[in-house]
This record gives sequence, structure tokens and C-alpha cells, in this order.
Amino acid sequence: MNFYQAFHDESLSSWVFRLALWCNEFPLTPDSVNRLYSQSLLSSSFDPDYDLSGEFAAACHKALASFRPGQNIQHFFAPITPYNIPRYFRRSYCYECLCDQLEQAWSPAVLKRWGYTYYCTCEIHQVSLNDAECHVIKRANAAHDFFQFHTEHRLGKSSMRYSSEVQRVTLEVQGFLRRITSEPKVGLVDSVLLDFCTLFLKILLFPKFGVCSIPNAKRGISVEAPVWQHLHLGPFLATVTERQSAILLLGWVLEIPGSDVRLLPERSRAVLAHENIDFWRLGVSSSYLPDKIFKYSALLFSSLRPTVKSPAIEEFISGFVSRSIKDKQ
Ligand SMILES: [Zn+2]
Repeated sequence: MNFYQAFHDESLSSWVFRLALWCNEFPLTPDSVNRLYSQSLLSSSFDPDYDLSGEFAAACHKALASFRPGQNIQHFFAPITPYNIPRYFRRSYCYECLCDQLEQAWSPAVLKRWGYTYYCTCEIHQVSLNDAECHVIKRANAAHDFFQFHTEHRLGKSSMRYSSEVQRVTLEVQGFLRRITSEPKVGLVDSVLLDFCTLFLKILLFPKFGVCSIPNAKRGISVEAPVWQHLHLGPFLATVTERQSAILLLGWVLEIPGSDVRLLPERSRAVLAHENIDFWRLGVSSSYLPDKIFKYSALLFSSLRPTVKSPAIEEFISGFVSRSIKDKQ
């Protein structure tokens, strides 16, 4: 067993916590890693794992240098994209991954990919992620909380709700979004397409109103309060199930092979209950939002329209904005 190795895609805070837990020669204790982490939360631009020049990274670098000279930590830090879930809302994990990590390294680890709104299916195990109840955000390694939550609640296999077909489509859409968010030089069409995908997911996951929003979903926070009725918060508040439905519909509109609206689970499909659901009708169904949010989104969608050369997206936008034409009549 090599405790010194970080898992692929592990966050720095998770790895440093595990080093402190298992390596006697490491100069920090688990408590001191937690303390350093929580102290750096407020001063970091996003959170300590995304702040290479922050206090937490500096303290970890110093501890690692005395323990393992020449250790580089830059590769732990990825740029922030519109799909990064802020720490306060981050609670998704793959239980199968946690079990593998426990077997290999005696303690579970947090993978950065679990913190993207589009990441719903584990690439390794091809199952949907799970959601913990809100964890203690000040702890450096939330994986321990996730594991405890999962075993206490005796949650079964996470892939029960979605077929293997849906998992495959989700993986395709995730891969597409990862490509257009991580490639530094995307062209104008890709950058407009990215804006479309971002807005599409925000609309479909808008708290309480979005077509993929499931009433009474176990999300740990009540979304009834006005404080959560903001366009950008929907994807952060949504459960994995809601996000995966939105990703499947995005795949459908992007015409990714194999994606089909009929693959949606019953509860999510109820809102789109129309025998001949098409892109236009999905646009209409998605437009029932609070008035200000609707008007703002209709403007944004209309501005993207001339650049995105896709008949499916065209139809979706036409359906969405058709409500404003009806309203004027
Ligand atoms: Zn997994």
C-alpha cells in the first residue's frame, strides 16, 4: 500500500488530510489540516482547492516540502469553469469509488470531478452518483462524511433509476461539456454553444419551476425561500437525479446519438407529458418560470440563436420564446 500517492483527480485537501491521517512522518495532523482548511475558506476566491496562491496551498506546500522535497502541487489546481459547484453545495459522490479507495488506501478520497454540475455518472463504474445530506463544509476531506452517510442510510445501488443506456448518454454529454470547458482555445461557435448549454441547464434546473426540478427532492435545503430563487443557483441546489435528467435532455437537444426524451424516469417525464414531445414543446414547457427570469432568459437565448447553427436548438429556442409572443397578443 502506497499512502503517499494521491488518487487520480483527487483534491489537494483530501490527499493532504489522508497523508496526515496515515503517515507518522508527515508534519501536519488531521486536525491541523482541517483547521488550516477552514481558516482559508473565507480568504479563497472559490475554495482552498482552487486557490494555488492561497494560504492553504502555501501551508500544504511547506509541509510536503519538508516531508518529500521537490513535490509539485500545481497539477491539483484546475481552472474554475461555469460548471464548478461551490463548496457549500458540493455533496455528490460515487459510493463504488469510495469502496475502491478504502480497499486500496484505507481511507476514502474526494475526486474533483464530483464537483461539476454536469458530472452525474461515474466514468469508472458507470453508475449515477449519490447525494449526501449537506456535509460539514469546513472539513478538508468530505469523503469520510459521504461514506458514513451512505452506510448509515444503507443506500442501495445508485444506478436503479437510470438504465445503462442513460448512463452511456450521460457520459457522452459529460465528455462533450468537459471538452468545451477545458480546451483553452474554443472557437466562437463552441463558446456560444457553451453559453447555450449553461443557460439550458440553469433553466431546466431552476428551483421549483424548472422542468427537471422534482418537488420534495431530498436536497438538504428547502428551495421555497426567495433567497434560492436565482437562475445561477439551480444546478448547485439540484440533486444528482435532477441534474442527470437535465443532462439527458441536453444530450437530446444537442442530438447526441442514443439520447431520447423517453429514457427519462417517470417522475421527471410527467412534466413533459405529451405524446409527441419535440424540441419546440420542450422549449415551451421550459418557459414557465417567474416572469423576470423568463424575460431575461428569452433575451439571452435570442442573442445566441444566430450563431448556433442547429435545427434542434433553433426549435427549442423558438418554443421557449413563443411565450413572449403569446403574452403580447
Ligand atoms: Zn465510481
